[in-house]
Amino acid sequence: MSSTGKVFDAIVIGGGAAGLMCAAVAGQGGARVAVLDHSETVAEKIRISGGGRCNFTNRDVTVTNMVGENPRFARYALTEYPSSRFIDLVREHRIPFHEKHKGQLFCDNSAQDIIDMLMAECAKGRVQHMRPVTVGEVKPDGDDGWVVQVSGVGELRVRHVVVATGGLSIPKIGATDWGYRLARDLDIPVVETRPALVPLMFDPVQWQPFAAMSGLALPVRVRAPAEKGAPVFDEDLLFTHRGLSGPAILQISSFWQPGQDIEIDLAAGVDWESILIAGKAGGRHLLKNAVLDNMPKRLWDTWLDQPDWHSVAAQRHADLADKPLRALAASLRQWRVRPMGSEGYRKAEVTRGGVSTRALDAVTMQSKAHRGLHFIGEVVDITGWLGGYNFQWAWASAHAAGRAIACGR
Ligand SMILES: Cc1cc2nc3c(=O)[nH]c(=O)nc-3n(C[C@H](O)[C@H](O)[C@H](O)COP(=O)(O)OP(=O)(O)OC[C@H]3O[C@@H](n4cnc5c(N)ncnc54)[C@H](O)[C@@H]3O)c2cc1C
Repeated sequence: MSSTGKVFDAIVIGGGAAGLMCAAVAGQGGARVAVLDHSETVAEKIRISGGGRCNFTNRDVTVTNMVGENPRFARYALTEYPSSRFIDLVREHRIPFHEKHKGQLFCDNSAQDIIDMLMAECAKGRVQHMRPVTVGEVKPDGDDGWVVQVSGVGELRVRHVVVATGGLSIPKIGATDWGYRLARDLDIPVVETRPALVPLMFDPVQWQPFAAMSGLALPVRVRAPAEKGAPVFDEDLLFTHRGLSGPAILQISSFWQPGQDIEIDLAAGVDWESILIAGKAGGRHLLKNAVLDNMPKRLWDTWLDQPDWHSVAAQRHADLADKPLRALAASLRQWRVRPMGSEGYRKAEVTRGGVSTRALDAVTMQSKAHRGLHFIGEVVDITGWLGGYNFQWAWASAHAAGRAIACGR
């Protein structure tokens, strides 16, 4: 019972992807649940996700698509609630969707379809919504519960508190560090946070020669050579005025650390060495005037304009030895650059780091030290790759906590 007269078994703080899903599962399992949010509208990140069409999951999601100190923590939740179950739910709600690229599933119409579906699922579970509210102190209430201060409501006494306040990206639509602060106040370790799935920026002076390629997109292979075991991504890269963006860069940004290089194969899938050597036959023109299939002209011009290639570029293609042509092809294949930083939380899709998985139970998402306190979604130190993996983690972790609450665990 609470001092407000409202009786709940659980309150979920944060009405985003994970919070709504958890509330729906717990509510449908018989628990009395309320979702609290400081914003007037729920699930703003779902609304803007996937360019407004929400890449709501991926057909194939495993822990290898997750980043964090211990991605294997996600195994239980992802196995219990695989993407096929979320796809079934989407089908049940007759939401039209399509596969875009590498298993990524998007709504045909709008991300609002997913929000409406989650709200309908919450309604089925008789979930109550309180917003906008400010959540104040969260304190243990004896051995088996929590007391939570809520503006305009008063004290709520519950057995379960679910922290689903998300990460720090896009503060202008309501991201806060509330969940991390609560964890730290309760001595729950938090892995250092930083922007991820984010464009990378370069020193303006060093970048100046490449800025001419702003707007150019091309398929590349990218890796973070200093990060042992980090994956290699074959995706599109986009040159910008300030640096690099596009799916390839967003992916590698989750692995890149300040002070490190990234390595880009700008010739992904094209054997430039053979093309350049074969091009010598009949190549009476200067190398810089060569017209090569698959080589964007802006890239070719910018590349040969670098001091290393001035003299090679000014020779007749036919007169060049194989060695400099091989070196030129290799320079395109192994372009090493050192970003100055990222575009930060303003532009990041997600936050890397968060509440340490060491402190949580993988089955219930509950704090090992604080019974009844659960952390789900992005606030946890599990970050997905680009491609629907972050939402799948939100759904799966939420489902795990929701089941645990419904079962009274
Ligand atoms: C531009 C953009 C596009 C994206 N596109 C995709 C995509 O297509 N596919 C994909 O898988 N992922 C995508 N993501 C990532 C995805 O949106 C998140 O990983 C996911 O929303 C995390 O869910 P969550 O419930 O943990 O947090 P959120 O969805 O961020 O929800 C957190 C909720 O907590 C509330 N809150 C915060 N602080 C407080 C507080 N102090 N008190 C009360 N409430 C609070 C917020 O208002 C919000 O409603 C995208 C992210 C961005 C920014």
